[in-house]
Amino acid sequence: MNNFLPFALPDIGEEEIAEVVDSLRSGWLTTGPKTQRFEREFADFIGSDVQALAVNSATAGLHLVLEAFGIGPGDEVITTPYTFTATAGVVRHLGADLVFVDIDPKTFNLDPAKIERAITPRTKAIIPVHFAGLACDMQPIIEIARRHGLKILEDAAHALPATYHNQLIGTLDTDATVFSFYATKTITTGEGGMIVTRDHAIAERCRAMRLHGISRDAFDRYTSTKPAWHYEVIAPGFKYNLTDIASSIGLQQLKKAWGFQEQRQRMAERYDAELAGLPITLPPQPENGDLHSWHLYAIRLNDHAVISREEFIQQMSARGIGCSVHFIPLHLHPYWQKAYDLQPHDFPMAWRAYERAVSLPLYTRMTEGDQTRVIEAVKDVLAGNLVETMESVVGG
Ligand SMILES: *Cc1c(COP(=O)(O)O)cnc(C)c1O
Repeated sequence: MNNFLPFALPDIGEEEIAEVVDSLRSGWLTTGPKTQRFEREFADFIGSDVQALAVNSATAGLHLVLEAFGIGPGDEVITTPYTFTATAGVVRHLGADLVFVDIDPKTFNLDPAKIERAITPRTKAIIPVHFAGLACDMQPIIEIARRHGLKILEDAAHALPATYHNQLIGTLDTDATVFSFYATKTITTGEGGMIVTRDHAIAERCRAMRLHGISRDAFDRYTSTKPAWHYEVIAPGFKYNLTDIASSIGLQQLKKAWGFQEQRQRMAERYDAELAGLPITLPPQPENGDLHSWHLYAIRLNDHAVISREEFIQQMSARGIGCSVHFIPLHLHPYWQKAYDLQPHDFPMAWRAYERAVSLPLYTRMTEGDQTRVIEAVKDVLAGNLVETMESVVGG
């Protein structure tokens, strides 16, 4: 199909291209001045005196923070099954175990009411995931973590920018937050991520471990009195630094982040208005005037829509519209299922949410006409399937 509307596309302008070319001509390709600037500007964007550390993916950032928490074999980390596998995979990298807690069926976020009974003497941390860019109900999660002495790492891969109780995600009273700049996320560097924290010890550990375990402190200390070649390795670190080429894209994307959010919000509002009354459940809205990043616009097919989710996506595709599904819950994937002997009904809310979930295209490069096409296609597919059912009922 030559007029196919893809599910997602990055929004790269001449500014990003010029900034990358500038880096390419500068002679400095890897982590350097652009990355330092990107970190400073990202920290300013989030505000509240946070430190920002650029990494080459959100997955790397999640891994680094958990390592800095001291998570290791014998420890347990609580998270949602309704996420991308990266959230949980990094826990296994450290030899620790996952304990999944089911979601709130209204928000698709971790259900705080179910967290406490999942806590054991081995529990060390909670990873809430702000699904689609709607903040988790963080206050009870923070209270539970305090009561049990647990760390909180926010997976904010979807949540730039979003707020909870009118505070930007990244500024809440948690231990660290990680954002993603993967190609489909709200801002992108191709691949990339950012750790945000106010905890100096966590920042220092992540800073060293993202680059071979080389202590910058030692490096900085020695450069004043010793030759520039000298450095000290304090641990067997990772190779998780972000290149200046990627940071160039990030610098320009960050300038557009508020504008992107406004555009996404307007598009979500248009979907809300035009898809109302159809046999689908529209995405949950933030409470108390909070900001939703609208990384995803995920609808649910109601039982009146006599069509399977697979068939719906197939029929949308036949009309030239790409859709997706967020997420296939982790406990339905072979690895996680086998690792913890999990059954679909172990997390019934996540299972049910997934069975009827469809993410519609929503991105800033879509035109009004593109969105009209999506809306018409959704109406068309659902109408066809409702009418047929009525006829078959009437016809006997
Ligand atoms: C995209 C995503 C990640 C991983 O981000 P990368 O930057 O690709 O590593 C982690 N968690 C969630 C919920 C995501 O959607």
